[in-house]
Amino acid sequence: MTTDHQQYPVEFEAKLIEEAVMLAESNLHPFKRSRFRRERDKCYLISDVELRETAFNTLHHRWFTEMALDNPLTSAFADHPEIRNGTKGCLVLWSHKKKNEYADLLKEKQNLKPSPKPSHKPSLVIRVQPHTISDSNTFKYFLDRELLYIEDMLDPDFGYTADCPQLDGGSAHNDFLRRRYRTVWDCTIAGRLLRQESLTDVQLKRTQKEFEMCFPELGQETGSRFQRLIEIDQPTHHEILALACEPQTDGTTGICPLCQFPYAELEFQSPRLTESVLKSIHNDFPDWNEAKGICIQCLDLYTVYVLPTGAGN
Ligand SMILES: [Zn+2]
Repeated sequence: MTTDHQQYPVEFEAKLIEEAVMLAESNLHPFKRSRFRRERDKCYLISDVELRETAFNTLHHRWFTEMALDNPLTSAFADHPEIRNGTKGCLVLWSHKKKNEYADLLKEKQNLKPSPKPSHKPSLVIRVQPHTISDSNTFKYFLDRELLYIEDMLDPDFGYTADCPQLDGGSAHNDFLRRRYRTVWDCTIAGRLLRQESLTDVQLKRTQKEFEMCFPELGQETGSRFQRLIEIDQPTHHEILALACEPQTDGTTGICPLCQFPYAELEFQSPRLTESVLKSIHNDFPDWNEAKGICIQCLDLYTVYVLPTGAGN
């Protein structure tokens, strides 16, 4: 389904629309609900498979608009003209997992459909669950948060670059740095959402908890550093990167030989240092041995690394 928000093309995946409409149906007034049911039942009577499919799509599209399920997105674009101007269109796709809901920018070469008119602008892709769309408040909160990341990515002053040598590798250490980068960015987003009154206490606490886990070296300073981060209104990619990549140490704690980050305690003979975990560590750090110790963060990362595919999802 394609809609045009003042010449800004927005396309929803048809199956996502159908599922969101079916979920939101229970909120309809009983009178409207029976009208929806009658109209839907009529589609089943069409014997031609393709025509029936088209009839269902048209029906769901119409009710999607009638139920105002696209309103949060329409108002989000009204609130963020720079996103509308900075991207060539928006594709809204079904995310099959809650944790995989996000908004991102796709460059020309990554665009899902080849475009007849090449554009230097990236496309906005939103992956979301039907359940999120079916509830306007949930969808609004989701967009408030995700579009702030997009706003940063499009802002030349933020200076975002996806090609970042410090975060480029596949090792556990780089994964850890990426997680720290994302967490610092999350903190600045949380602060802005807080000032817009678009963040719950639970979400704020969750962000702080993640910050504590990613910056264990901060110890007693964690609270004040978190507070400073959430007060930043215009962060830059380089500031965030510097925070993520440099240990925030006062020089009194030990250093993990793998990630070079300071930790109060290192693990030496953990039962989690199984043969496959040790092998995986040696692949990245041939000179390392158990006697040198490993921090809990690296141990977690390598433990997850050697899990069989499909576990931990
Ligand atoms: Zn470590």
